[in-house]
Amino acid sequence: MKKKIFLSPATINLYRECPRCFYLHMKYDIKRPRGPMPSIATGMDSVLKKYFDYYRSIKELPPELKDEMEGHLIEKLKPTYYTDIKNGYCLLGKLDDCLITEKSTYIPLDFKTRASVAEDIHPAYQLQMELYCMLLEGNGMKTEDIAYLLYYYPLNVNPKEGAGNILFGMDIKKVSVDMKNAKDIIESAIGCLERKEIPVPSEECEYCRWIERVYGRESLVGIPIKKDEKPPEPEEIIKEEEYKDTLF
Ligand code: SF4
Repeated sequence: MKKKIFLSPATINLYRECPRCFYLHMKYDIKRPRGPMPSIATGMDSVLKKYFDYYRSIKELPPELKDEMEGHLIEKLKPTYYTDIKNGYCLLGKLDDCLITEKSTYIPLDFKTRASVAEDIHPAYQLQMELYCMLLEGNGMKTEDIAYLLYYYPLNVNPKEGAGNILFGMDIKKVSVDMKNAKDIIESAIGCLERKEIPVPSEECEYCRWIERVYGRESLVGIPIKKDEKPPEPEEIIKEEEYKDTLF
């Protein structure tokens, strides 16, 4: 039986950035090189999750959301949501939180930690929210074609109170969701995985530019793993992987 291939907002966004890196990641488990990652966002997420869980337990919205949105936090937030897409492909994702409205519709909420206020919605976040709506719809939870990004950013430290009292600002951005866009990108990403040829590198990324400068253009053509190794069929490589969203 064909095993499932799991796609996530992180890997679909990887495809949006560079089909080649996505292909190498999904088919060969070769991940794009990374430097040390700041863990502040993960720490903030876990603090905020506890804070939201408290308001979930008393069936209220956190005070900073009350004037901005209606409804209440979903009673049981699953750690991971899954929905089948097609031909053995499945979308998975972890929502930070979710609102349920009086009309029994669902609206994803996502925490973002930043250095300052965000001017625009990053295309990666736009797609992430569209994929979350797809996941909810795939689980029979009707959405409103909107999502909220909840940005938290440090403001200042009161010199009298010390670093234990760092003040954070908060900004809410409403995202208009276009699930057709998400479906089209998924379709295109699946098409990419099912091709035998490795995609060309993205023009902007400096890693492959570096390889090209050192080893020449030929080094970027074909599959840089082992010579004569045949690319496996997609169904041979499946494994479920929990992608901690390092992109977000
Ligand atoms: S250009 Fe190369 S390193 Fe950069 S994202 Fe694409 S495959 Fe990865």
